[in-house]
Amino acid sequence: MTPQQIEVALERILPRVAKPGRYTGGELNQVVKNWDEIDYKVAMAFPDVYDIGMSNLGWMVHYDIINKHRNLLAERVFCPWDDMEAAMRERNMPLFSLETKHPVRDFDLLGITLPYEQLFTNVLNLLNLAGLPVRAADRDASHPLVVAGGHACYNPEPMAPFIDVFVIGEGEEALLEIIGTMRAAAHLDREAQLRHVAQIDGCYVPRFYDVAYHPDGTVAAITPNVPEAPPRILKRIVPVLPPPVTDFIVPFVQTVHNRAPIEIMRGCTHGCRFCHAGMVTRPVRERPVEDVLSAMQTIIEKTGYEEIALMSLSSSDYTHVLELTEEVGRRFGHLGINLSLPSLRIETVSTQLMDNLGDGRRTGFTLAPEAATEKMRNIINKHVTHEELLETAREIYRRGWRTIKLYFMIGHPMEEMSDVEAIADLSRQVLAEGRRFHNNQAAVNAGVSTFIPKPHTPFQWEAMGRMEDIRDKLGYLIREFRRPGLKLSWNDPDESVFEGILTRGDRRLAEVVERAWRKGARFDAWFDHFRCDAWYEAMAEEGLDPAFYSHRQRSIDEIFPWEHIDIAVTRRYLTKDYLMSQRQETRVDCREHCFACGILPKLKDLRRETPDEAWKCPPVTKVVNRQARRSVKSPAS
Ligand code: SF4
Repeated sequence: MTPQQIEVALERILPRVAKPGRYTGGELNQVVKNWDEIDYKVAMAFPDVYDIGMSNLGWMVHYDIINKHRNLLAERVFCPWDDMEAAMRERNMPLFSLETKHPVRDFDLLGITLPYEQLFTNVLNLLNLAGLPVRAADRDASHPLVVAGGHACYNPEPMAPFIDVFVIGEGEEALLEIIGTMRAAAHLDREAQLRHVAQIDGCYVPRFYDVAYHPDGTVAAITPNVPEAPPRILKRIVPVLPPPVTDFIVPFVQTVHNRAPIEIMRGCTHGCRFCHAGMVTRPVRERPVEDVLSAMQTIIEKTGYEEIALMSLSSSDYTHVLELTEEVGRRFGHLGINLSLPSLRIETVSTQLMDNLGDGRRTGFTLAPEAATEKMRNIINKHVTHEELLETAREIYRRGWRTIKLYFMIGHPMEEMSDVEAIADLSRQVLAEGRRFHNNQAAVNAGVSTFIPKPHTPFQWEAMGRMEDIRDKLGYLIREFRRPGLKLSWNDPDESVFEGILTRGDRRLAEVVERAWRKGARFDAWFDHFRCDAWYEAMAEEGLDPAFYSHRQRSIDEIFPWEHIDIAVTRRYLTKDYLMSQRQETRVDCREHCFACGILPKLKDLRRETPDEAWKCPPVTKVVNRQARRSVKSPAS
């Protein structure tokens, strides 16, 4: 079908599907270029529906960077919802881009953002709807090159047969280098093209690696099978954060986050042992205050958004967070812009910062203690005292917030029932703080998720908690939270098990992913779509034991399926930190004391190319925020 035929077909379909605005394109700030004038065309796909994808900053950054190049174009592609998929399959209508309705197979490259494992089956469905063979081995140079990037690619093995190239780490520069290489190699066959791409730093071409297994099923070796493929793929780090996106496309459909995000800082150095993002996004790099403010100005002018989110893994650690939020108030306060800082750390959120967050809608304030006892917080290396937690809650309620959202995890290593009971106790104590100011208007919403050991973290050796224990603990919390002012939400433990299997899976799981997809699994991140049965059947049919992946303690010297993926943080550092957790020993934030995690030597190499002072490791600032916290303690406390 041509773009014109797709347009015509859409006229007939859209009146009969939910949220037709997901498929129309034509929004403010979309970029439409003349195909006849452009050398290389990229379909930028987020493998979920429009409402989710349009709020993903990582995907937007790449759309923006490519379209800033005069001779390149990027157009958006999302997964159609069930009703639209049925209508498309009925008409044999290929998946298309929103900007010009070109079928995906007309593009030179299909870029897929892969932030989490629950999107794996959607990727296969997306390839299939585009009329592309789902396996890379069945595609050739006449097909778009399929490139994936994002946090779920730090263990790419369960998706290895479906993707031509994985970008390990930050893609802002690597994607442009891949495009440059593919344009220069356009005359070659796919194999030859990929041999060139395999030499780009951070690019992993899985077909050039063979995996061998021990009789017990653990990995024995991962070996390159062509000279161009390096034994280990070092993640890409961009020395300086790229210019922030400002021309956000203003969606026609309500999206999960109806706001404009600005990344103020990348990386975090607190070293929480369960936190994948905290390990893979090192080192910390901060965006200058003036860059953030001028981006806000442009966003307000170009989009009309009323809320702007200052994004990072821990925004209260941003060196100039007080100066920035004060200046935002001064420059934009009169416009009634809502400022949100999605992730504030209990240890570094100051009362001054709370005050700076203005008189906007004080819907809820989020804190993430993750565990309710100091023993457990030491084990996970989230060292905040009980008193600090209650004091922070008190100051939040004193300033007018009536609801505090608390995030916890259950199933952590060495967790006892008393640690779970403490979650209910702590939530009641926080509520009591709230009632001092708001009586029964005060509320505590607790979110509980099941701990999932993640690759490249100190807990990568751990087994998940036994499901019957998890269910017992969840049952206890559900009963304890049936009280006025308390609310509990939780993740489905079964879904967490499958994330746990896929996140530490090996290449044999790719067969399971494909089988589950052929059985109808898709939109696995949506609780009403997650097909647990299809996944278990697929595992059984492949003769694989789910517990081998999710509930097996790894030996300290086991070779991991992701052993060839180098995040620059060394195995030696992770092993040491893991053993410290077993002794309940903590590490301070490495902004205060460097623990030589391995990033520094890698930075030295990079520094040779970019002698820019913008990024140091450790950055110098944490101490400042702690002082701010202490100095403005309110007189009443
Ligand atoms: S090199 Fe040191 S300061 Fe930098 S992230 Fe690693 S431990 Fe922290």
